[in-house]
Amino acid sequence: MYSESTPLTKVLAKREAKKFVDARGIATVGDLLAYWPRRYQSPESNLAAATVGTYIVAVAEVKSATTRTMKARRGRMLQAVITDGSTDLEVTFFNAHGHEGKLTPGALALFAGKVSSFNNRLQLAHPGYSLLSDFDGGERRGLIPIYKQVGNLHTWTVTECVRMVLDLLDESPESIPESVLDRRDLMDRTAALRGIHTPDSWGEVTAARKRMSYEEAFVLQVALAQRRARQAQESTLARTPRPGGLLDAFDGRLPFTLTAGQREIGETLAEEMARDVPMHRLLQGEVGSGKTVVALRAMLAAVDSGGQAALLAPTEVLAAQHHRSITAMLGDLAEGGMLGGSEFGTRVTLLTGSMSTQARRKALLDIASGDAGIVVGTHALIQEHVSFQDLALVVVDEQHRFGVEQRDALRGKAIHPPHVLVMTATPIPRTVAMTVFGDMETSTLSELPAGRAPITTHVVPEAKPGWMQRTWERIAEEVAQGRQAYVVCPRIGDDDEPDEDTEIFEPEGATASEGDGDAAEDEAAPPRPLASVHRVHGDLVANPALEGLRIEILHGRLPAEEKDAIMRDFASGDIDVLVSTTVIEVGVDVPNASVMVVMDADRFGVSQLHQLRGRVGRGGLPGLCLLVHGGAPDAPHERLEAVAGTTDGFELARVDLRQRREGDILGSSQHGVRSQLQFLHVLEDEDLIEAAREDAHDVVAADPDLGTHPQLAALVDARVDAEQAAYLERG
Ligand code: ADP
Ligand code: MG
Repeated sequence: MYSESTPLTKVLAKREAKKFVDARGIATVGDLLAYWPRRYQSPESNLAAATVGTYIVAVAEVKSATTRTMKARRGRMLQAVITDGSTDLEVTFFNAHGHEGKLTPGALALFAGKVSSFNNRLQLAHPGYSLLSDFDGGERRGLIPIYKQVGNLHTWTVTECVRMVLDLLDESPESIPESVLDRRDLMDRTAALRGIHTPDSWGEVTAARKRMSYEEAFVLQVALAQRRARQAQESTLARTPRPGGLLDAFDGRLPFTLTAGQREIGETLAEEMARDVPMHRLLQGEVGSGKTVVALRAMLAAVDSGGQAALLAPTEVLAAQHHRSITAMLGDLAEGGMLGGSEFGTRVTLLTGSMSTQARRKALLDIASGDAGIVVGTHALIQEHVSFQDLALVVVDEQHRFGVEQRDALRGKAIHPPHVLVMTATPIPRTVAMTVFGDMETSTLSELPAGRAPITTHVVPEAKPGWMQRTWERIAEEVAQGRQAYVVCPRIGDDDEPDEDTEIFEPEGATASEGDGDAAEDEAAPPRPLASVHRVHGDLVANPALEGLRIEILHGRLPAEEKDAIMRDFASGDIDVLVSTTVIEVGVDVPNASVMVVMDADRFGVSQLHQLRGRVGRGGLPGLCLLVHGGAPDAPHERLEAVAGTTDGFELARVDLRQRREGDILGSSQHGVRSQLQFLHVLEDEDLIEAAREDAHDVVAADPDLGTHPQLAALVDARVDAEQAAYLERG
């Protein structure tokens, strides 16, 4: 009969099949079965919860129905009373035609509609409804699945189509090995599909979901286990620093002592790079925890051993800054081959997309010849014409902005597979790390270097008279003491969309409408316009309290040279106040900056605010962060209070994750993973993910190419393809 790959056009009426494709891209039987109910309704539903304006879906019985002729209009009107046994609700149709034969006393139906009020009584006017006998044969006592509307197809039409497909579906081929199903007490796939769409009990729904979640976790973990197995097979050159070489020279002149964590992780990296299997390690640590120094020491070891190291940064600003700070930290060690340079010196070369042709040609030459021991760059490094003499180590900064594929593209430029170190300042929960970075080992820098000044954070309601002016005066005071300030805005110009690096949250309190169809309208008032860099800059320049201050702007759309010049001027103290977008979010390091004002802070995510404020308080000066929100002066701001209440990034990451939708947790660069996870809750299903990881390891160890598991192999391929497709789409 049918398999999951059968096109829907073969099963459903043409018109319906077309609607599924047009509205949701649902083209095959498998796609439709993957369109799972938003929720389930017990047949004994509760009308007492109905209030004016809510959209309800309820099973109820028709208690009475009367038809009468209307005076003002032609036609007859149907008025019925429906009941769930304890609460009654009026139902009205202004045109009885087509309804009076169906909504007769005793009929049981699923009603859906928005509750209104008429003559002080609650009612449903023109609800959608479906008699339960229409799709249940009148005998089903199970749960009723509620689907999100597909185009103009109501939930029950979706139900009918799913039923039709399920009735004609052959056994679905099993993707999870029998032994695993037994060990983990899981349903087979066909039973699970039925359990999702036509459950008899909550127990069945739970068991079916568990099976489908497990499958998702398992497929992911098998893909990762294969990747790990391939990596373990790779052989490469061991990279050991030369005693008395570049690394030793650098260590000898470090102006501070390494923290215990930095030392320990440094040793781990040295050990792993000294093996002939490539290292794959994730280094996580708070903003300012000193990851860059750790990475730089590993890069120096690579150079010492005769190879090159590449540092991949997510933005031009950040690449330029890394280049500057690495060059500065190395001093004459970065003047290899130059007069006056150290004898073990190397060269640090920058490569970004917007460099002049001439500078670029020079950089490419240095990279190809090996004169550049350390290469810092953006995506430009990944491009085809970049070739290295001997790339030994790849460091990826802020991994959440890069995908696995970009890591691989850079790895592909090495003669011997390079060692890979990935750094992230976003704390990653264990299960997410296992899911997204499952092919890497993890190290965490958990202490901040000594002498870091505390940051104080306050919430500032813009609407409170005088508070904004006080905020700007505070900036003037800091500048008068020789310090500098950041003012961060969510967008560039008043006509612009929010900056693309800014994740904009709905204002708190404006709850998203929880409609089951498109029938629930969103009546929230449009939020007031977001602060823009241009407008705020104009306001500050005109503000007498800031007279004489040098105020400049920075955002991603400025030409690269200008961005660079502005960052340089800010770093050297020639600019007092920098009004910018979140381009300064990651890695920008100006120790003299002591105060940051974030406009419309309530629209930023918790972790992003934490990351942003890490830009101040870096130079031993106490930092001050003012979070401005445009809401009512006394409105509660849970997110902002959380940020003001602690400087523990891991604690804030937990707050942040609790507030996000599951898909967002995997980050924007992980679309491939995100779009494939329907059942799995990466944060909550910890036991399940661990079990899947173990099982995947066993299966892959016994059968690396999955020759005996064709269905599993197909799913793994499909998911790897999807990830690649998502990557290509992103460009
Ligand atoms: P991250 O990359 O983790 O945000 P960085 O490596 O940029 O942190 O370090 C932030 C600042 O702290 C830099 O100015 C760096 O020189 C300094 N730093 C790093 N390690 C130490 C240490 N052990 N003691 C004092 N300062 C340090
Ligand atoms: Mg950094």
